[in-house]
Amino acid sequence: MTTGSDTEPDRAPGPSPDPAPVPAPGTSGTVVEDTHDEVPGQATGQTPGQAGQTPGQAASRYDAEATLRLGGGTAAPRPEPGAAPVPGQGPDPGAGRAAAPEAALRFEGVHKRFPNGTTALADVHLSVAPGEFVAVVGPSGCGKSTLLRLASRLDTPTAGTVHVGGTSLGYVFQDPTLLPWRRVLANVELPAELTGVGRAERRARAREALRLVGLEGAERQLPRELSGGMRMRVSLARALMTRPDVFLFDEPFGALDEITRMRLQEELQRILSEQRFAGLFITHSVIEATFLASRVVVMTARPGRVVAAFDVPFPHPRPPELRYDPAFARIAGEVSAALRDGAGEPAVQGGSPQ
Ligand code: ADP
Repeated sequence: MTTGSDTEPDRAPGPSPDPAPVPAPGTSGTVVEDTHDEVPGQATGQTPGQAGQTPGQAASRYDAEATLRLGGGTAAPRPEPGAAPVPGQGPDPGAGRAAAPEAALRFEGVHKRFPNGTTALADVHLSVAPGEFVAVVGPSGCGKSTLLRLASRLDTPTAGTVHVGGTSLGYVFQDPTLLPWRRVLANVELPAELTGVGRAERRARAREALRLVGLEGAERQLPRELSGGMRMRVSLARALMTRPDVFLFDEPFGALDEITRMRLQEELQRILSEQRFAGLFITHSVIEATFLASRVVVMTARPGRVVAAFDVPFPHPRPPELRYDPAFARIAGEVSAALRDGAGEPAVQGGSPQ
């Protein structure tokens, strides 16, 4: 499926980007059949302010989360097809890869200008092949989240096209967006519950997903009883439930402390090696990007465009000590240099620069 300024935007198959709100358990019209893993009275007594979000807001994100399975990618640093050249880098040996028909996700000449005049993205070319796990780094406000919103059909490009292969799309946010009245197992089951998967199967899948993220034994706990890292693990487990074809991560570990963040990076890349996901992972951290990704893409300051890409040829699962390996440090250093080269002051176009 492809969306673009010259095409009618497709509705993303599978999870809807704008699903119907989920009624609180116990209220009329609820689609939730199993309330045994929820805390009685809390659902109906919960206000949006108490929860930090409405069930509908939470479900919008839940519904959009999931996984994807694909292969690997290796090579030397090279510009992304269509990217502006980086001083010192040669011609693009990867040209043509962006047009590969089997791409899991492809941005072609994508521009995004908001109604207030802010141009967030300018001529972005980026392709994620099946089997690739691509990380995107760039300065704040360069359009990283906008890229994910375009990929997930939450927004449409002003020009260019966005193609998403496969049949479903997952999304994981920095905020784990757990339903506070539901226990861990019930939170993880939710996407399967919303799509009508029977109780026995969804329960088995939820337990397997919790095993994958290292949360066996936490099934009966409530979100408020969990640490930030555990909540993110629950969010990842829930995403693993629906097995989508393209998996988008919007700085999922950005709010976590350093140790927890490193542990979760290790967990995620272990899961990657087990499940063979492909995905697009947005982060501010060069080390995180290099540790996780088979390819790191660098964006310039707003209006964002892809300025360089670096293949990271270490096989998964990657040991924690890889972060201190000279070969790893060299790639991370090159990514940092490209980031510095492309991170000039954002242009003022319409809205205030951020
Ligand atoms: P990043 O994720 O890289 O920090 P974003 O994609 O969130 O950047 O935003 C890119 C730029 O577009 C920023 O300057 C931001 O203020 C602007 N922007 C994002 N959404 C909107 C919007 N709906 N209307 C106007 N400007 C927006």
